[in-house]
Amino acid sequence: MEVSLRILGCGDAFCSGGRSNTSFYVSSPEINFLIDCGATTLLALKKYQIPTGDIDMIVISHMHGDHFGGLVFFLLEEKKNKRKKPICIVCPVGMDEKVKQAVELYYPGSSTLSELDIRYVFFGSHQTLDLEKIKIESFPVVHSQETLPHGLRVTVGDRVIAYSGDTEWTDELYALSDRADLFICECNFYLDGGPNHISYSTLKTKKLTCKRLMLTHMGEEMLDNAESVEFEMAEDGMVINFPKN
Ligand SMILES: [Zn+2]
Repeated sequence: MEVSLRILGCGDAFCSGGRSNTSFYVSSPEINFLIDCGATTLLALKKYQIPTGDIDMIVISHMHGDHFGGLVFFLLEEKKNKRKKPICIVCPVGMDEKVKQAVELYYPGSSTLSELDIRYVFFGSHQTLDLEKIKIESFPVVHSQETLPHGLRVTVGDRVIAYSGDTEWTDELYALSDRADLFICECNFYLDGGPNHISYSTLKTKKLTCKRLMLTHMGEEMLDNAESVEFEMAEDGMVINFPKN
């Protein structure tokens, strides 16, 4: 089965370097889905001419706006489009309430989404969700705890895509990325820049066992040092094809 992934956004919360907020679009013959849906995601979908109606599922790593804020605009777009088919949102426990609040905050009074068939599937830590066409494993990571931060290991067809979410280094990332076809790992800083995120200086000391590593969520200081980075760095718009194994 042929799987492909497009980087819709690989920026941090501040769109450093002109990069969009986090979102990855994965398409396969069986299912099309987003991993994260940051505030700028609808713009990116339109830029790369991906119809919102083609998306069956949206998987969210944690409750920060640069990872889920785009749901407001995505859902309103689908309401406008009179979407009939269900949209499945796979996310940390309680995010349905947060999405409701965000829609109401941005569009007071006009925000009813009751016409949409939104189906939430929640995950806790170390959970495996077998959702027929896709398997999602959730790993607890170290970020603002209020956001219920998780890394995700997604199996679609015979391919494994691992994603760190936002986190400082945690040994959970070894199991999360082990033998993954692609491990998209956040690397906000070049040198140690503070808590909640990984730095390149830390990451390069780790012995990862993924087949391909790609850095994302890069801040200004990381981008300023891009020339001395030895790992592959994501770019907005980049497409990664996984031919049939
Ligand atoms: Zn973030």
